[in-house]
Amino acid sequence: GERTLVNVPESIETVLALLQHKLGTRIAVERDFSGRPEIHCTPALLNQVVMNILGNAADAMPESGTIAIVTQSLPETDVIRISDTGPGIPEALRERIFEPFFTTKPVGSGTGLGLAIAYSVVQAHSGSLSVETAAGGGACFVIGIPRQAA
Ligand code: ADP
Ligand code: MG
Repeated sequence: GERTLVNVPESIETVLALLQHKLGTRIAVERDFSGRPEIHCTPALLNQVVMNILGNAADAMPESGTIAIVTQSLPETDVIRISDTGPGIPEALRERIFEPFFTTKPVGSGTGLGLAIAYSVVQAHSGSLSVETAAGGGACFVIGIPRQAA
């Protein structure tokens, strides 16, 4: 799609508002938007990718928990980190979660497509999408979007 200047905090707030029914009051959301607010990408990159990752974080914390969203600007890359306080992702599954139709959710509740779609959208922007272990043991998804020459 068309690339434009997208305001990252605005895009994230839009997605959070759309997910409010799913997050409820059981999940706290912490924000640290220290990165450059505007990045060069298609609006679909942020909306679709952030939506899929935040939806999974909510699924991973059925009782209660915290989602932390951090933006950070490196010299050549804008980074968005989304971590949660859920159970995390076992080492053995780390590669497979990005495969189409891979899901650990009950039949009928997960399509297994969310991360596969997120991965291809990020790749189409020459970006990177990876998963790490958050400080508290939860999942931490890291989106890296290369800075465009101005
Ligand atoms: P779906 O949500 O339909 O299962 P996804 O592609 O979005 O498909 O995610 C694939 C799998 O990755 C999930 O079924 C789950 O096992 C794992 N996963 C994704 N995000 C998280 C997370 N934040 N915490 C724990 N597991 C996760
Ligand atoms: Mg999903």
